[in-house]
Amino acid sequence: MSRNYRAELVGVFGNPVDENPTGVVEEAAFAEMKLDFRYLTIKVEKENLCAAMSGLKAFHMRGINLTIPHKVEVLKYLDELSEAAKIIGAVNVVVNRDGKLWGENTDGKGFLLSLKNEKAEVKDKKIVILGAGGAAKAISVECALAGAKQITVVNRSPERGQDLVKLISEKTGAESRYVSWDRTFEVPSETDILINGTSIGLYPDVNSKPDINYDTVTSSMAVCDVVFNDPNTLFLQEAAKRGAHTINGLGMLVNQGAMNFSLWTGREAPVAVMENALKKEFGL
Ligand code: NDP
Repeated sequence: MSRNYRAELVGVFGNPVDENPTGVVEEAAFAEMKLDFRYLTIKVEKENLCAAMSGLKAFHMRGINLTIPHKVEVLKYLDELSEAAKIIGAVNVVVNRDGKLWGENTDGKGFLLSLKNEKAEVKDKKIVILGAGGAAKAISVECALAGAKQITVVNRSPERGQDLVKLISEKTGAESRYVSWDRTFEVPSETDILINGTSIGLYPDVNSKPDINYDTVTSSMAVCDVVFNDPNTLFLQEAAKRGAHTINGLGMLVNQGAMNFSLWTGREAPVAVMENALKKEFGL
């Protein structure tokens, strides 16, 4: 009788990566589905990505997540990209298909799913996003592809903000405009969805909130935060005080983890189990 002692390997390459909780969530899903998979949290410095990607192939790993600082740099090691990843120009998940590496970006897709789960529609809606970094880019491209009517990008550095607006307009055809964030931002009253796509409020910076006039937030708006640690950000607390429908960053994190699970295993993810594992990890 022969038995397979070799587990299927997936994981994440990043630096810093020690505090990344994804392994807990994916391992909970593997256990639930009785899959012999292991999720490895691997520190890979910027200059060592090439060696790490060779290792991925040499170890016959099923795939990998990429986080800071590798999401863009990894493109040069991939054979194929999803349509969204091509537009966004960044990848957070790679699938190894018999030695051919395929890249996808599930950050924005995970965000869209968290909106859908909260019955918040994107199609024909006016969206304001604070920030123009990796998360904001993935979210705004996915919102544009999902039929958003208008996307306003509010960013501190003009170059990054204008680049994102150009990308949205040229690659998706959605209407987009840039607003400079050089003073307290007044949220336009016709806004349907307001998103904090910056890292303001991320642990340990939990006493900070984006510089907007919170009295311009209304009860007709859905207000979302990408920050998930701590999920109950001051930004969301202020919005909730104005009666807005608030959506925290945990859903986005769990949903993209669930999508990555399915891409690697070909199985439907046990989303509730993954969500509970994350909440338990954060003591919620
Ligand atoms: P980036 O470094 O790529 O972008 C950061 C963005 O925040 C930039 O637009 C930057 O503006 C802006 N910013 C940061 N500090 C300030 C400030 N004090 N005032 C104004 N703007 C500021 O980071 P990411 O996009 O990769 O990550 C952003 C956040 O998203 C992080 O908190 C991360 O944890 C979270 N995230 C959550 C996920 C989830 O699943 N919930 C998934 C991925 C990310 P500027 O261009 O001017 O520097």
